[in-house]
Amino acid sequence: MSQTKLRIAIQKSGRLYEDSVKLLAECGIDLRNVKDRLKTESDNFPLEVFFLRDDDIPQYVEDGVADVGIVGENVLYEKNKQTTIVEQLGFGKCRLAIAVPRGQEYESVKALEGKRIATSYPFLTKQFLSDNNVNAEIHEISGSVEIAPGIGLADVVCDLVSSGSTLFMNGLKEVETILQSQSVLIKNNKLNEAQQQLLKKLVFRIQAVKKAKR
Ligand code: ATP
Ligand code: ZN
Repeated sequence: MSQTKLRIAIQKSGRLYEDSVKLLAECGIDLRNVKDRLKTESDNFPLEVFFLRDDDIPQYVEDGVADVGIVGENVLYEKNKQTTIVEQLGFGKCRLAIAVPRGQEYESVKALEGKRIATSYPFLTKQFLSDNNVNAEIHEISGSVEIAPGIGLADVVCDLVSSGSTLFMNGLKEVETILQSQSVLIKNNKLNEAQQQLLKKLVFRIQAVKKAKR
């Protein structure tokens, strides 16, 4: 019987890639040459690494194609898949926020009534609106959400923000925070005993890395 390996899904390229690979390295897990690969593995820890788009990671982990994954809470909650958060990782910090044109008056969420909202997060945006009893029109766009008001595609946006400089450059101001987010380690809900044991080892190392940074 072949030895069990823990399969982890991480972002292929983008804001989480470097920190994800670095975390594994800090855990003492060496990966074979990772450039331009779909997957790789380690020779000193029973780990296989899949490189994927972050949006696909919750689904792959729910389906058990990967046992665990590293993804932003923003994506995790938007996709609304059945997985479990194992550990918060402390990087990829950002927030999902509503922003309106800077000149526009804004007193409360009621100001959003009847507006067109551009977002890549329709599920979380809808939830926020219905929690606040506001009716607005959601326009789902996959990227460059912040330019939507400037080109007349929407009145306001619901987008990820870290420093706020992108919003500022596009003449927008942040008025509501919908979600504070960071990257998390998630796991499939039906891991077998051997997989659980490997995950325990990995989490133990991650916690040691986090402690050393405090
Ligand atoms: P992919 O090609 O994997 O779909 P992407 O373009 O959707 O990549 P990135 O822009 O690389 O995603 O962002 C990945 C994650 O990084 C976000 O989902 C979020 O959790 C986090 N993040 C942190 N700060 C920001 C920010 N200012 N803007 C966008 N994402 C951020
Ligand atoms: Zn993405």
